[in-house]
Amino acid sequence: MPDNSGQLVPFDPAAARHPGPGPSARPLFGLDAAALASVLEREGEPSWRANQIIEALYHQYITDISSITTLPLDLRRKLVSLGWQIARPEIARAFQSADGTERYLVNCPGPRPETVETVWMPQGDDGEAGDGMEEEPASETKSWRRSTICVSSQVGCAVNCQFCLTARLGLERNLTAGEIAGQVVAVLDRHGVRVGRDRVNLVFMGMGEPFLNYDNFMAAVRLLVREIGISPQRMTVSTSGIVPGIERFAAEPADLRPRLAISLNAPNDEIRSQIMPINRKWSIATVVEAVRRVPLRPRERITFEYVLLGGVTDGPEHARELARLVRRTGLPAKVNLISWNPGPDFHYSSPKPEAAELFRDTLVAAGLPAYIRQPRGRDIFAACGQLKRTMEA
Ligand code: SAH
Ligand code: SF4
Repeated sequence: MPDNSGQLVPFDPAAARHPGPGPSARPLFGLDAAALASVLEREGEPSWRANQIIEALYHQYITDISSITTLPLDLRRKLVSLGWQIARPEIARAFQSADGTERYLVNCPGPRPETVETVWMPQGDDGEAGDGMEEEPASETKSWRRSTICVSSQVGCAVNCQFCLTARLGLERNLTAGEIAGQVVAVLDRHGVRVGRDRVNLVFMGMGEPFLNYDNFMAAVRLLVREIGISPQRMTVSTSGIVPGIERFAAEPADLRPRLAISLNAPNDEIRSQIMPINRKWSIATVVEAVRRVPLRPRERITFEYVLLGGVTDGPEHARELARLVRRTGLPAKVNLISWNPGPDFHYSSPKPEAAELFRDTLVAAGLPAYIRQPRGRDIFAACGQLKRTMEA
């Protein structure tokens, strides 16, 4: 039986005063059941109380130890005096788009404070098209029955894709598992979303390259699946083609493995190397070889993302070459087309809408499922490749 006796005891806020973020801060958020149990055991407390902390952090969205009233007052005080804090990432600023999308600056208050960006798309991001996910019955009570949260995995990015704004930041640092999963919980909390009752999709397509922060990324996925209760089949991770990461990903158990999207962005190595220098390290063939090792679930497909750059990658000849390339891989696949989202000081242009439609139709005619992803939140710099901690909008 959980001990709820603490609930009726008034909490003394003075006892909760903790040192501000700094090297001594010990964040609880991000720890899984086993890690919390060992923290408790070390302090001579019963390990089953880990479940109460899990419930408080990951389901009740409590952000202050003093408010975990299922824990006895003494234990709350003790944790605080030992330097423990929940230290969950918190939304510091929100920018609202005319289309309902919201972009957030999220403060990560751990030992190395940072600000990251997270995006909430109440109507989904269209990335689910062709996944069989859009066929679900409409809920009458929720307007965001297929909401999608776009999550960052790093502050900045080291990959240097020529068309991406995040690339210009360079890599500042990796995010921890708690900082990655915490973005999700902060957004669920803001919108009163309850996992289990409401449907939520996650895309790891915010700032950063998840497969260059593999351990933290997968630890976040484990937290999101096991402690928070989101199915990995509702998560998609996008990579620019980091082959060692894809190989590790292929070895993950199916019950913990998100869907995989590859940012292909070009129909051949020549163009891809120009716009994504990482292609000189891992060519298209090498990436495809690694993707082949991922054991897919029934009906699962690999998503190839393809940014349409006006005059560079958006011609019908590129579409035909892309269709041949994808067909040759033999992989069950679909293509998500993304019109390039502009940013300052780029020499690229967005494709004309007709070019994007012709591109999609050419792929479809060649037997390849293809979808145009509607840009979400362009006006607030929330769309793909626009996350650069822009303060305006
Ligand atoms: N680093 C990972 C995930 C984040 S980028 C990756 O590259 O896959 C998410 C997607 O945004 C990628 O498919 C990328 O190609 C695309 N993207 C980057 N900049 C863009 C821009 N300016 N307009 C449209 N899509 C862009
Ligand atoms: Fe990094 Fe992805 Fe942007 Fe490339 S597209 S620079 S991998 S965030």
